[in-house]
Amino acid sequence: MPSTVEIVEVGPRDGLQARPDFVATRDKIALIDRLAAAGLRHFEASSFVSPRAVPQLADAAEVLAGVTRHDGMTLSVLVPNLRGAEAAIAARADALVMFASASETHNIKNVNRSRADSLAGFRDIAEVARTRGVPLHGAIATAFGCPFEGEVPVSEVVRIACYYADLGVRRITLGDTTGMATPRLVRERVRALRTQLLDLPVALHFHNTRGMALVNVAAGLEAGAAHFESAIGGLGGCPFAPGATGNLCTEDLVHFLHEEGIETGLDLDALIETARWFEGVLGAPLPGQVVRAGPRLARRGTDEVATATG
Ligand code: ZN
Repeated sequence: MPSTVEIVEVGPRDGLQARPDFVATRDKIALIDRLAAAGLRHFEASSFVSPRAVPQLADAAEVLAGVTRHDGMTLSVLVPNLRGAEAAIAARADALVMFASASETHNIKNVNRSRADSLAGFRDIAEVARTRGVPLHGAIATAFGCPFEGEVPVSEVVRIACYYADLGVRRITLGDTTGMATPRLVRERVRALRTQLLDLPVALHFHNTRGMALVNVAAGLEAGAAHFESAIGGLGGCPFAPGATGNLCTEDLVHFLHEEGIETGLDLDALIETARWFEGVLGAPLPGQVVRAGPRLARRGTDEVATATG
């Protein structure tokens, strides 16, 4: 088990992208600033995809321009193609994230091109990232199962990961896009990548769609993963799409890791405060649980509840 874990906050991108009501740019900036004040340093801040495809993230450049930069802070963004990569670099993104799906059908549904075409296009992104000195990351969606194809072979995940490694990525993320990961699959896939890619960090990106996110984190830790992607409050999914649910919740993850004696460098109380504040911004509750119950040793006043016998 690692003694410290690095958390990448994906709430501003994955957590918001499917929300139908536009979240004001100033609120997106304030969200990142507040999370930075709670100690977070790694953010997936937005996405340089077509504003027509994802109108919620049309303000990516303004968000990057507005966030207060701290030492050691990384604001990464998703880039689908060379044009997106150039726009992201012009907007001072600290890292570019390429993304492809491990399953062919999901890749076509997601970006309207085959995996082969996606991977071929990444060569241009890698070239511009290398010449401009911007770190590159690679994300693999549907890495634990595909909603259209079912089981995804580990060999497909390894194949894409090796391709990313050849392009010079500094980290590979396994995305559990629709919450199909199980502890067995997590152990298998993390071990397979660690065997193939040696020291290249593997980040795990879970959704709590089937209530498995934290148990999958435990399996990932056991297999040697030390990077996890999560969203404040468990943001994510679309409130109008039945079955689509949120990312692994950042403050629930931090609560769990601290109870396991694993350092994150994060202030749990400040994260809980931020989740509460953002529920107010959205005008809707979020699915995180520690924000409701408090940390396990938070003392409650004895006058908060009446005793059963009165
Ligand atoms: Zn996701």
